[in-house]
Amino acid sequence: MEKGIIFNIQRFTINDGPGIRTEIFMKGCPLKCKWCSNPESHRLSKEPGVYPSKCISEEKCGLCVKACRQQALLFGPEKISQIDRSKCVGCLKCVDACPAEAIKGWGQDMLLGDVMALIEKDRSYYERSGGGVTISGGEPLVQKDFTKSLLKACRDAGIHTCLESTFYADWETIADTVQYADLIISDIKHMDSRVHKKYTGVGCEKILENLKRLAGEGHDMILRIPVIPGINDDMENIEKTAGYIKDNIGERLRTLQLLSFMRMGEEKCGSLGRTYEMKNLEFDREEFQKKVENIADYFNSRGIHCVVGTKEKQ
Ligand code: SF4
Ligand code: SF4
Repeated sequence: MEKGIIFNIQRFTINDGPGIRTEIFMKGCPLKCKWCSNPESHRLSKEPGVYPSKCISEEKCGLCVKACRQQALLFGPEKISQIDRSKCVGCLKCVDACPAEAIKGWGQDMLLGDVMALIEKDRSYYERSGGGVTISGGEPLVQKDFTKSLLKACRDAGIHTCLESTFYADWETIADTVQYADLIISDIKHMDSRVHKKYTGVGCEKILENLKRLAGEGHDMILRIPVIPGINDDMENIEKTAGYIKDNIGERLRTLQLLSFMRMGEEKCGSLGRTYEMKNLEFDREEFQKKVENIADYFNSRGIHCVVGTKEKQ
């Protein structure tokens, strides 16, 4: 049976699609957004993250050291400090060995049947709330065969399906997968491809072209802007985004959601031994929030249904 690498499964979510949902987060992403809340999703491979404050100490415990055949664990004074990523093979034996949850494993192989069994547990909630299943990431299309099979299995089981994707992928991959999605969710991060590339690692042309084509083929979508202070919240970019949506998405847009920047990925980046690149972004939270409200008002004045956050009735 097919296997996928999944880094999280959340039950009873209400933010990513209508009703109460089970959300499956797939490993791997072709983008590397500097503000990403889920940096543990970036690599397709399984990887450990370390939380030194939870470590008992090498002297008193040291179980991870005994478990690791690669000698990849690094210790500061007493406690675990990081993992030598050049030696680590992602076996996650250190995670199983640690009694203090000071090492967390990101990613596990899961069989399609096991994921479906978990999804089926909450069927009555989906039925009562108009919910279902959302496949997210990372970028689910990196594991396109598994994502397609999971969407199809849900569809065959009569469960509403939502695919949250960057749509930075070839059209053949998208078309093959999206046929089993009842709703799609995607971001418009910036309209200037050079700026998009600077902050995400890739240009925006392919994404915008794919979203246009999806709308043209009748796919309903929720679009999102992760609003980042000083990067994509200027009126020039907002006006261009509004023009793009009106010209290319039109009636296929259910809601435009503005997601205000939060420093969500900082701790996880640290646990993975990576630099959180938005660390020094300084801004006034209250003023920024007002700005985001004003941006929502602007979109609504252009006839684009826009909300701040994700919690509106969809
Ligand atoms: S994941 Fe495996 S190789 Fe990497 S540090 Fe842990 S035990 Fe060692
Ligand atoms: S097994 Fe966990 S608690 Fe024990 S030394 Fe290793 S990281 Fe620390």
